[in-house]
Amino acid sequence: MLDVRKIRLTLELRESGIFDSKVLSAIEKTPREIFIPENFRHQAYENIALPIGNNQTISQPYIVALMTQSLSLKHNHKVLELGTGSGYQSSILSLLVRRVYTIERIKSLHVTAENNFKKLKLTNIVTKYADGNLGWTEQIPFDRIIYTAVTKTISKNVFNHIKENGIIVAPVLDGDRQILKKYTKIDNSIKEELITDVKFVPNLSGTK
Ligand code: SAH
Repeated sequence: MLDVRKIRLTLELRESGIFDSKVLSAIEKTPREIFIPENFRHQAYENIALPIGNNQTISQPYIVALMTQSLSLKHNHKVLELGTGSGYQSSILSLLVRRVYTIERIKSLHVTAENNFKKLKLTNIVTKYADGNLGWTEQIPFDRIIYTAVTKTISKNVFNHIKENGIIVAPVLDGDRQILKKYTKIDNSIKEELITDVKFVPNLSGTK
């Protein structure tokens, strides 16, 4: 569905500083409406976060685009996502990299997201129902990691999941603020960059 609303959204993203044409094209190709409950579907191409049940939200397209662009993805990359939610971000990633591993702690969201991947015939996404903070040790190392819920810290365990020159993009709590941060692993130390202020649902421990 390449209608006026979709074209308008892509233009808006471009004007807001999303310059990576591969990211813009992945957004254009992905039907956001299938990730959204029926009663909000008419707003699928508005640049806003929307509820997906269980007090969770599908992120705003601009933030999905900004996080994806900040990951500097290559087509041979193996990416880990903590917080599958609706599966929208995972689907965007799946068009840009070799394989996406995504973890969700809420069972019903995990199941709905799996169905969404089937509908879209995305076969390079591997899902897991678990607490993402425990990581995915069997699949270490990853080229990139993305957090889609705000965290107090990135655990040492998760840092150990990433390759040399690997990148982690995550919303991180800083007092009352939430800041989107980019961490790059260089010579086994971590370089930290601030991207922008954001608003995310919290990263919580355990499963539900
Ligand atoms: N990427 C999602 C955003 C969903 S909101 C999308 O495009 O729709 C963040 C998600 O992170 C929620 O579904 C929440 O349940 C999940 N989450 C929070 N803490 C988590 C954890 N420790 N492990 C796995 N998932 C977590």
